[in-house]
Amino acid sequence: KPLLTINDMSITFTSPDEADIEAVRQVDLTLTPGKTLALVGESGCGKSVTARAVLRLLDKNAKIPTGEILFDTGSGAVDIAKLKSDSLAMRALRGAEISMIFQEPMSSLSPVHTIGDQVDEIIILHDRLNKKQARERTVSLLDQVGVPGARDRANAYPFELSGGLRQRAMIAMALACTPKLLIADEPTTALDVTTQAQILDLLRQLQDDFGMAMLFITHDLGVVAEIADDIAVMYLGDVVEQGDVFDVFRAPKHPYTQALMNSVPRLMRKAERQRLTPIKGTVPSPKDRPVGCAFTSRCPHAFAPCPTVRPERTQIGADHVARCHLLTHVREEAMA
Ligand code: SF4
Ligand code: MG
Repeated sequence: KPLLTINDMSITFTSPDEADIEAVRQVDLTLTPGKTLALVGESGCGKSVTARAVLRLLDKNAKIPTGEILFDTGSGAVDIAKLKSDSLAMRALRGAEISMIFQEPMSSLSPVHTIGDQVDEIIILHDRLNKKQARERTVSLLDQVGVPGARDRANAYPFELSGGLRQRAMIAMALACTPKLLIADEPTTALDVTTQAQILDLLRQLQDDFGMAMLFITHDLGVVAEIADDIAVMYLGDVVEQGDVFDVFRAPKHPYTQALMNSVPRLMRKAERQRLTPIKGTVPSPKDRPVGCAFTSRCPHAFAPCPTVRPERTQIGADHVARCHLLTHVREEAMA
């Protein structure tokens, strides 16, 4: 039974003197408890915006004109798309069911409080424990996320910790409310390779311990190979291909996914993690999105219908979907 089901969700940004910009269009995503879904794509493709929509942490000029974001609370589904960002219901979800970690830990840690106090506070709010009981939980949580000498380190301020330890403290904070869903937005991108590997191992371990689902945003296919069960590839606000990681890596069907894969040699051997190398051409601005397939201007296989007709979501396997005319059209037009 899915924990999170996003149906047909679009996100637009409005500005007083310009037309609305569609940053995400008609996205469908599903996330099951205990599983990790990776959202992948170049920067600006809509992956962070999609994740922030789930927490209703979008900018003020953003809105969700269509679609639903169904979250299973255990006693029925809530449509997050219909909740106001600062409503009680949304704040309850953010405090107890859904947490987020970021690339930069200082965006969630307060510089003026010790990490112990910050984790205590969440535990006290969530579990109504007294300060002493909360501190015991905090110490064991810090220990669990690999902060050495947790009892003493709890008294440290964030600036007194290394980047890797700050990341661990942020993860402890995110887990303090035992969320059902952890959203991770490029949490390892700023770290050196060794620390990156340790944090990924830690997240996998914690997922086993806590049974939470993860929505993992990254542009690094090596990270996807290590951590994800499912992948959704985004391009200019569209999910162009999605499915089981193994299926998509083995036989990518969308030319954009294929280009991403080609830019990462030896991926499946996980020998080394590599950044995506840029694909020829540039992503068009969402302001002048092509009417048809968004990838038309960079696609080596573009043919007659591509610039003007938006490709449908096409089922490739039980668990594998893509949006590309090559999957539904005989390419005879291209020969003309
Ligand atoms: Fe390329 Fe056309 Fe497929 Fe888009 S729909 S990816 S332009 S072949
Ligand atoms: Mg981002």
